[in-house]
Parts: sequence; structure tokens; C-alpha cells
Amino acid sequence: MSDEIEHRRLIIAGTGMAGLTAAIYAGRSNNDPLVLEGDEPGGQLTLTTDVANYTGFPEGISGPDLINDAKEQAEQFGAEIDHGIVTDVEKRDDGSFRVELKDGTVYTADAFVAASGASARTLGVPGEDTMMGYGLSTCATCDGAFFRDEDMLVVGGGDAAMEEAHFLTKFADTVYLAHRREEFRAEDYWIEKVLEKADAGDIEIMRNTELLEIHGTQAEGVDHVTLARNEAGYPKDNLNDPDTEQFDMDVGAVFYAIGHTPNTDYLEGTGVEMDGEGYLRTRGGDGGQQTATGVGGLFGAGDVVDYHYQQAVTAAGMGCKAAIDADQYLEDLERAGELGVDEAEPEAAAGDD
Ligand code: NAP
Repeated sequence: MSDEIEHRRLIIAGTGMAGLTAAIYAGRSNNDPLVLEGDEPGGQLTLTTDVANYTGFPEGISGPDLINDAKEQAEQFGAEIDHGIVTDVEKRDDGSFRVELKDGTVYTADAFVAASGASARTLGVPGEDTMMGYGLSTCATCDGAFFRDEDMLVVGGGDAAMEEAHFLTKFADTVYLAHRREEFRAEDYWIEKVLEKADAGDIEIMRNTELLEIHGTQAEGVDHVTLARNEAGYPKDNLNDPDTEQFDMDVGAVFYAIGHTPNTDYLEGTGVEMDGEGYLRTRGGDGGQQTATGVGGLFGAGDVVDYHYQQAVTAAGMGCKAAIDADQYLEDLERAGELGVDEAEPEAAAGDD
């Protein structure tokens, strides 16, 4: 581990919509943010081809374009964006944060905005590691078009699974939708859309069915999958039950749509409160400091907090709030004479409000 410690006024982890919006606002408030980009640069939006519901783009905008424009905008206002995977954050006795990166670099910071998003869940079945990116995908909108005219399997029973199965009918011969139990978690809106496609023969719904193994090679892609079905649900937990049927099915692609896990492990050393799934608990409610956690100077925005809305526009809104909350926190520290070392006065950012 390097001993080199650079002190920053504000560090923002994440370059999705939450992190970049926080960076724009923090830059404009002269908080000289360092924005650390992890191993999924731009977050989940960069996996989306067309964002049709982001306010102000009546023709839609591609996810990568939206992210690149937001990066440019953040840099215009003085944000520094650098690659760096944060592995550990700790709150020090003097109130500042110690931020350690995977390459051994260590920063300290007076405030920290966690906007590190969420990553797609996986199942851990045999074949998964080999086939990820070679016919197994966690993003139908990104990869669906590569498997035109193939049979495709979507795993999951929430809104994402419904939306993806529906979307994939554009390309697939048949879309098989495997869900581990009888009832779908998805909203009626999506269930009805999927049922319409099922009536038309484009989607085949496989309830009480789970994926056991993915077979294929990186050279040739996915060849077939092994599934288990038990009318009582959760067949994987009941493989020895005589009512559990195991069978193989030929498909050319597999899409996981089984939810996401927030990227918050690196914050455990701060003692910040999280729920059972790792989502950060923030103050919320009315008035200022809604994005504040119980750890002074640590703020959360976007998918690290939000397990419900999970939209680009809501993440951006939370990023904005986090930057405003962090600014207030830093100003309070400044007034109390408690800001960390090396507080160079940053150049005033251009701005008109
Ligand atoms: P989700 O609602 O958490 O659904 C995950 C699905 O995956 C559930 O059906 C779950 O099964 C299944 N699953 C989880 N772990 C599994 C495992 N190990 N094996 C097999 N199946 C497993 O996640 P989501 O669909 O990604 O949606 C997340 C949020 O985004 C939701 O609030 C949703 O409303 C929102 N969203 C909205 C839209 C839209 O409206 N346009 C689109 C996508 C997402 P169980 O049901 O048995 O738990």
C-alpha cells in the first residue's frame, strides 16, 4: 500500500447519473470534487442503447451519450474525474475520511458522496463465469440484437424480466421466460404485455422453473441450458423431490434479470447503517440533508440508496441533493474551523446562478 496521501475537500465515488450530477453541482459550489470511476464506467446507463424517458430529450438519447455529455459538463465546472476502484473508506478521529483504492492509492477527504450504484445479480450456476459476455448477459437492451433469430432465455419475474422478455421478442425466434415460482413480482402493466406476447406465440412462460447450468463455449456461444421445474415452486431447493423435473433446452442466449446488489461493501469500515441487502440508509424526509447518512460527511445518492425508483432521472436528482447537502456540511465545518488539511482555494467555477 502506498503511503502517499492526497487530501481532497470532496470525493465522489461513481460516474453514473448520481455521481456526475453531484460532480456538476459540487464543481459549481467550488468544492473541487474528485470523482472516482470504478470498473463499470458510467454505470448502468452505458448499458442502455436508448434512454427515452430522460427529461428534455423528446427524441431520446443513447445512454453512453448522456453519460459522456454529463462528464464533459462536470469537468467544465472543475470536477476531476479519475479511474479508481474504492476498496475501503474509514472515518478518522479528526472527522475526515480515509479513502483507499485498489491500486494502493490513499486519499483523505472532508466529505464523501457514495454514488457507486448497483451491479446486476448473478445466479452462480455452472457455466456462468465462462459464458458471461459470450451469450450470457445481464442487459437485454445492450446485447439482444446480437442473437437475432435465436431462441433466448430470460430469468426473473420482476419488471425488468418482463420488460426484457418483451423487448427481446424483436429479435428472438422464441423468448422463454423462466421464473422460480408461480406468481410474478412484476406490475400488472408488464405482466399483461408479456401475456399478450405469450398469446401471440412470441414468449413462452415457464413458471416454477429455475436455471441449473449453462452449456456452451466462448467460441461458439451458448448451446443449451439445463433447467429444473417443480409445480410447487423453487425447484432448485427441491432437486431430490420426485416431482422435480430436470431437462435440457436449446437456446442461443441467456439473459439474467434477477435484480441488482448495491455496491456498498467498501463503506462497511465507516459503520454506516445499511439495510439487509446493503442499501445505505439516508435521512430522507423533508428539508435539507435528505442524502445524509448517520456518519457525518458521508452522503448517499442513486442506486446505493434507492431500491425502488432506480431511474436515471431520480439518480440525477439524488446526486444533486447529495452535492447540496455536502456543500452545507463543508460550509458548516469551515465556519467551525474544522476543515481538513491542504484546503487550497479552488478557482471560481463559471456559473450564472
Ligand atoms: P426485482 O423487482 O427485485 O425482481 C427480481 C426478480 O428476480 C424476482 O422475480 C425474483 O424472484 C427473481 N430472482 C431474484 N433472485 C433470484 C434467484 N437467485 N433465482 C431466481 N430468480 C431470482 O428486480 P427488477 O425486476 O430488476 O426491478 C428492480 C426495480 O426496478 C423494481 O422496483 C422495478 O419496479 C423497477 N423497474 C421498473 C421498470 C419499468 O417499469 N420500466 C423496469 C425495470 C425495473 P421472486 O419474485 O421470487 O423474488
